[in-house]
Amino acid sequence: MNIHEYQGKQILKSFGVNVQEGIVADTPEQAVEAAKQLKINYNSDWVVIKAQIHAGGRGKGGGVKLAKNLEEVKQRATDIIGMQLVTPQTGPEGKLVSKILVAQDVYYPGASETKEYYISVLLDRAKGRNIIMYSTEGGMDIEEVAEHTPHLIFKEEIDPKVGLQGFQARKIAFNLGVSGAAHKEMVKFVTALYKAYEATDSSMFEINPVLKTSDDKVIAVDAKVNLDENALFRHADYAAMRDVTEEDPMEVEASASNLNFVNLDGNVGCMVNGAGLAMATMDIIKLAGGEPANFLDVGGTANAQTVKAAFNIILKDPNVKAILINIFGGIVRCDRVAQGVIDAYQEIGNIPVPIICRLQGTNAEEAKKLIDESGLKVYSAIALKEAADLVTKVLAN
Ligand code: GDP
Ligand code: MN
Repeated sequence: MNIHEYQGKQILKSFGVNVQEGIVADTPEQAVEAAKQLKINYNSDWVVIKAQIHAGGRGKGGGVKLAKNLEEVKQRATDIIGMQLVTPQTGPEGKLVSKILVAQDVYYPGASETKEYYISVLLDRAKGRNIIMYSTEGGMDIEEVAEHTPHLIFKEEIDPKVGLQGFQARKIAFNLGVSGAAHKEMVKFVTALYKAYEATDSSMFEINPVLKTSDDKVIAVDAKVNLDENALFRHADYAAMRDVTEEDPMEVEASASNLNFVNLDGNVGCMVNGAGLAMATMDIIKLAGGEPANFLDVGGTANAQTVKAAFNIILKDPNVKAILINIFGGIVRCDRVAQGVIDAYQEIGNIPVPIICRLQGTNAEEAKKLIDESGLKVYSAIALKEAADLVTKVLAN
């Protein structure tokens, strides 16, 4: 689950990571009040107005703007709130900005003495290790740094059993080229950042840029945080940070129905039980000449209710030209699934795309018979190859 920059900074702060301080606002008036408060708290006249959307590259898209007085705060806030912000990560349609973060300007004074770094903590699933990735080239697109100057990106592997060791934090500060008071600050920063990552069960904490200020403080100017959804039950306060307006509406609806669903770009919708079979089904669709429109795992209970919820979600996608149902009846009996498909079909009424229903396992023959005799526009299959051929056939029509 992704969260906003201001929420990520709240979490970081609670673990003792220094952050660029700020106050969230929904309206230009609130932004002005926030700027007044920041002046009282931090004695800074200049503030930055930062669009809060779940996407990076906001600066490039005009979503991060400096304001030097209250007049400018109001103006910039008015410009940014309600804008459809397009960044390299949003796609061409952009994202609607409904909140901004009014933050202290941390690049003053003596901007020439400030320096930006990149630091992230992430999970390397293949290695079974956490990785701290860091670079002297902060503030830039890290993908670009990786492409053009890969030698400027460092990686430190952390064994999750022993955690981040002191020598590792010092090595990172050394490789980043910071010395003196800033070195100490950097070690503290990295240590607290890793602690935050670990204690929140996150899969990513990306801070770009990390800023060394002219007075040798080290602070997080940005925060991109990905919390592991499977661990959210341990963190009710973080679960409440979810912003469903930032998520794919189809995926939000699916998760409300307990369906494991990922929206994709293709033309064949699929409804499958079990994540492994769902992956295999996506391969079959490709082999049959189609492209999967989604990944959908209905889980163990493929009854009329879940099948209906799944149909409704898949049919929202205008690109879908066919639906492949691929259910293995191990615990659940195929004839019951078939009846579920028939019931759901009849309840929804006229489904405008052909359906291929492949049921294999307990009572597969009975299931096929039920489908064939239902009189509905559902093609039945038992073997996978048969189902794939049917997909090819319906797509050709
Ligand atoms: P992103 O573009 O979505 O990654 O948003 P960031 O929070 O990283 O901000 C983008 C850029 O805005 C940073 O790389 C900085 O160069 C600039 N910026 C952020 N905060 C400040 C600030 O307090 N003062 C000034 N002058 N620039 C800032
Ligand atoms: Mn950034």
